[in-house]
Amino acid sequence: MKPAAFTYHRAESVAHAVSLLGELGEDAKVIAGGQSLVALMNMRLARPSALVDLTGVRGLGHMVVDPSGSLRIGALVTHSAIEDYPLVIPGFEILPRAASLVGHWPIRTRGTFGGSIAHADPTSEWCLVAVLHGARMVMEGPGGTRTVGPDGFFEGPFMTCLGHDEILTEVVLTEPRERSAIREFARRAGDFAIVSAAVAYDVSDGVVSGARVALGGVAPVAVRSPAAEAELEGCEPVPEVFERAARAAAGDLEPPSDLHGSADYRRRLARVLTERALADTLAGD
Ligand SMILES: Cc1cc2nc3c(=O)[nH]c(=O)nc-3n(C[C@H](O)[C@H](O)[C@H](O)COP(=O)(O)OP(=O)(O)OC[C@H]3O[C@@H](n4cnc5c(N)ncnc54)[C@H](O)[C@@H]3O)c2cc1C
Repeated sequence: MKPAAFTYHRAESVAHAVSLLGELGEDAKVIAGGQSLVALMNMRLARPSALVDLTGVRGLGHMVVDPSGSLRIGALVTHSAIEDYPLVIPGFEILPRAASLVGHWPIRTRGTFGGSIAHADPTSEWCLVAVLHGARMVMEGPGGTRTVGPDGFFEGPFMTCLGHDEILTEVVLTEPRERSAIREFARRAGDFAIVSAAVAYDVSDGVVSGARVALGGVAPVAVRSPAAEAELEGCEPVPEVFERAARAAAGDLEPPSDLHGSADYRRRLARVLTERALADTLAGD
């Protein structure tokens, strides 16, 4: 399969990319790792008239912890760079594990963190992590820079608030947590998950604080589970509490039914995966 004809433009900077997108009009698209876009183009599900290639732009490949403890990830950081990052990033230990669940190794070497967030697949690991860690998406466009949280950024499956002439430059993960884990279920290794669950919390005076539970594949976008978080908050991190929280997570949901699984199946997966992810947080105890 071959894509429809397009023109190719290599951006030299973020400002250059923004100006190219403005000149080339609404049918132009940014390309980063190409691991989602090229497949869509080959299947003619996307027919951009022009591609603006970001891969030569400097300054989008950083992973930096800022003084508040938040982690700034440049849009062009690849999945494999996160998987193989040589240092442990305190409060974000979930990242290498989440990266290892993205597709297959060759995809991870080219696909980018920013591309995943901009693509907004409802079961993308990075969209789930963005919701878990209250991410701030930083975008650059003709009007300057703006920053939007997950509720404003993710508008639906494969839909975000990014304008056609805006570039996602950085994602800031906030709310570092001492303990975190991610679980997902996919039919085959490397497939997109049917349902995924990510959890994070701190422990102070022997009880859970700052509990976060996020689920993917159960709604048009990844969501948090306030009911599960409430079950965890202030309780000892023990299996009985985890079981209650997992039930609460599943009870909170109205998942879609499709050819990959019914709503009931997804609800069950949400319960089991949440409980397993919470159990994983005890691995180091
Ligand atoms: C076989 C296979 C299995 C996969 N499995 C998984 C999986 O399990 N989990 C998962 O999450 N992903 C999976 N993927 C997708 C992969 O993670 C992609 O890398 C990712 O979705 C997109 O990143 P990219 O850099 O390749 O973006 P591209 O494909 O280049 O772009 C994707 C979209 O994002 C836009 N875009 C990219 N970067 C920016 C930016 N900086 N600013 C604005 N817009 C931007 C593009 O215009 C395009 O619309 C899989 C892909 C394949 C081929």
